[in-house]
Amino acid sequence: MPAPEYSFLDDVNKSFDKAAQLTNWDKGILQQIKACNSVYRMRFPIKRDNGTIEVIEAYRVQHSQHKSPCKGGIRFSEFVNQDEVMALASLMTYKCAIVNVPFGGAKGGIKINPKNYSVYELEKITRRYTSELIKKNFIGPGIDVPAPDYGTGEKEMSWIADTYLSLRPGEIDALGCVTGKPVSQGGVRGRKEATGLGVFFGIREVCNMPEVMDKIKLPLGIEGKKVVVQGLGNVGYHTAKFFREHDAKVIALAEYEGAIYNADGLNEEDVFQHRNKTKSILNFPGATNITNTADALELECDILIPAALENVINAENAPRIKAKIVGEAANGPCTPDADEIFAKKGIVCVPDMYLNAGGVTVSYFEWLKNLSHVRYGRLEKRFTENLNAHILSQIEELSGKKVSELERNFIHHGPEEVDLVHSGLEETMITSTREIIDVWHSNPAITDMRTAAFVSAINKVATTYVELGIFP
Ligand code: NAD
Repeated sequence: MPAPEYSFLDDVNKSFDKAAQLTNWDKGILQQIKACNSVYRMRFPIKRDNGTIEVIEAYRVQHSQHKSPCKGGIRFSEFVNQDEVMALASLMTYKCAIVNVPFGGAKGGIKINPKNYSVYELEKITRRYTSELIKKNFIGPGIDVPAPDYGTGEKEMSWIADTYLSLRPGEIDALGCVTGKPVSQGGVRGRKEATGLGVFFGIREVCNMPEVMDKIKLPLGIEGKKVVVQGLGNVGYHTAKFFREHDAKVIALAEYEGAIYNADGLNEEDVFQHRNKTKSILNFPGATNITNTADALELECDILIPAALENVINAENAPRIKAKIVGEAANGPCTPDADEIFAKKGIVCVPDMYLNAGGVTVSYFEWLKNLSHVRYGRLEKRFTENLNAHILSQIEELSGKKVSELERNFIHHGPEEVDLVHSGLEETMITSTREIIDVWHSNPAITDMRTAAFVSAINKVATTYVELGIFP
């Protein structure tokens, strides 16, 4: 939980300034890149199920319009405030630049704990929030495109889409007003797991780099690595799933109410079902309870994945972190003070603004699908299958040998939507990791991956501004 004096935005800007001084851009350009362009703070009333009226506090921040539309999730949390939404919107601009997704950054937040509201109340709040955005021209497929974030998911996105569609009849690309929708409402297959899968791809790429792994004295690859995950929500659950499926051991999972540990590894789906049933992650069969959940962050492990909220690793607990790699699946989990301590301890921190970009990358694919009005794979799947079958039959005929049934099915298979989405995400994460590592190694003054990522983002955004002729 953020302390009152904590400013997430100050932390983001501190990291920005540290990187900016390593670039040659004009001071004015840097100031423009850093500034949040538009902040919409709203209050609106809703009638609760018990008949009382409650005033809801909400925000939408558009950090940058250097590319259109702006893009960023909507958070439902009792800790939402303007500073937090501005920080998250800023990170979105840098994130999109790093992974070459042609959007400006934005973010939204509604200051509620969704657990305290009925589904009907949540629907009313989401729909009213959407109509406020429409009134002020703060949403639209070419303007600003929200997505899920902490406390929201497919359900809220389909309410947003439906509200937009009903208030903008006849707008042919209206479904592109929001991403993270259910597949039945214009969503794309592969969006739900995208952020977690992107985290996995990003960390796997780092673990395959001899120059990085030699420094932290870890063997190459994911297999056998001990992983601790904080937060068993959308991002944490899928991150844990992909690590486990690739033979890493998820030795601890931490939630709100406590954490659990098992040196032989935990299965996230079983833990998720246990938590659903008992309303707590604790007392999972075969695991040891850790009652103070924050202690899980300090466990001996190879990879630590904070996937809950910001400011969970700071000057106070960073000295006790024992992981060799910290993968920021959440936005802003480590403060700049923690970064300095990591640098001294030789811990590699893989930064949020690129590591958790899987969500926005696949949201970009969803938006393109909505604009093109065609499912990925529809045009090429059958053609590819026929071609593959023909090539295989020629090879078998010429060689006089037959491949196994398993291989035949694998070779025949034409791409489904989910195959293309996962492969586009893998390509994006691998390319971005290499780009950041190249920037890191190109300048000895860059001491960590976050600074390298910021330098890369600043260079790309500044170049766009100059190319647009905004700064002649
Ligand atoms: P979520 O609401 O699905 O899950 C978050 C989980 O964290 C919840 O289960 C919650 O109980 C748990 N949690 C909260 N405080 C905790 C604490 N102190 N210790 C342990 N667990 C705690 O949210 P999400 O979508 O998974 O988002 C998590 C983080 O990832 C956020 O920082 C978000 O901004 C970031 N992120 C999300 C996406 C996305 O596609 N959903 C994309 C990029 C970044």
